[in-house]
Amino acid sequence: KAKSIGRGRLFLFVPALRMDAMARRRYGLELHRAVDEGEFLIFYQPQINLMSGAITGAEALIRWRHPERGLLAPAAFLPALEGGTLAATVGSWVLNEACGQASYWRRNGAPNFRIGINLCSAQFRVGDLATEVIEILDRHGLPPEALELEVTENIVLDNDDIVLEILDRLHKHGVGIAFDDFGTGYASLSLLKTYPLTRIKIDQSFVRGILNSKRDASVIRAILDMARSFDLETIAEGIETEAEKNYLQRERCDEGQGYLFGKPMTARQFEMLLGINVNTKVRA
Ligand code: C2E
Ligand code: MG
Ligand code: MG
Ligand code: MG
Repeated sequence: KAKSIGRGRLFLFVPALRMDAMARRRYGLELHRAVDEGEFLIFYQPQINLMSGAITGAEALIRWRHPERGLLAPAAFLPALEGGTLAATVGSWVLNEACGQASYWRRNGAPNFRIGINLCSAQFRVGDLATEVIEILDRHGLPPEALELEVTENIVLDNDDIVLEILDRLHKHGVGIAFDDFGTGYASLSLLKTYPLTRIKIDQSFVRGILNSKRDASVIRAILDMARSFDLETIAEGIETEAEKNYLQRERCDEGQGYLFGKPMTARQFEMLLGINVNTKVRA
């Protein structure tokens, strides 16, 4: 009995930080296994030209098919990867997989298909990202303009000059650079001025407010005006209703993405949406 009390006490005195480290370590091991066992997969969410209604491409969104806990969204595991080399490893996997898939679709019925891929901070710190991306494009025969890399303000603020260097190189190569979650950060304007961007992704929090908040509607209009004066393409995220779509159309936002057009889906489901009849399995 004394022993169990002692144990309990010992447990109580383990500092919270150490517990976190242990939990993180356990999770880290699981994530390593996930990489080795190929438990990650990519969902694709359509992006639509708001004028024509045509599918222009898709954003690649990672999922983890966890053996016990089922399908996990990025919020459940990306934070645990934060900063580590494992994050860069997973990022490389996504780049290679999604570029391969995009190239395949371009060669099999969707010749102008564009793929959007999210980057994380760690990818700018480990290895040579620009060279890696160019090699991946070559490997899959994917033209640079078919790839759009999505960066957030955090990535830029975390890494400073190196991000500018890498993005400049990729931009000169012809790769698209989208500013993700635009409007939610603190430095959006100064980044707009400095970085080689080709597109702004208007954050879904503004889209959500369009219909009942004059302010959100004004923010969107201001972002679109600004984008035009910087000669940037625009896409609005998180469009869920016809009314939201109609507003954005009227304000001449170029493209849209959201549940109204399609939720993130498997490659196979996406092929059905594209109306191309190919067998994804045969390719692998
Ligand atoms: P994000 O890049 O801003 O991606 C958009 C998120 O909004 C996705 O969440 C998508 O499923 C969700 N979404 C799209 N349309 C709608 C809508 O109409 N309504 C609502 N409520 N949500 C919508 P998801 O897939 O959970 O991804 C969350 C975040 O995780 C992404 O935000 C991105 O920052 C990150 N992420 C996802 N995949 C990757 C990846 O491969 N690499 C990195 N570094 N980050 C990723
Ligand atoms: Mg994104
Ligand atoms: Mg976003
Ligand atoms: Mg986001």
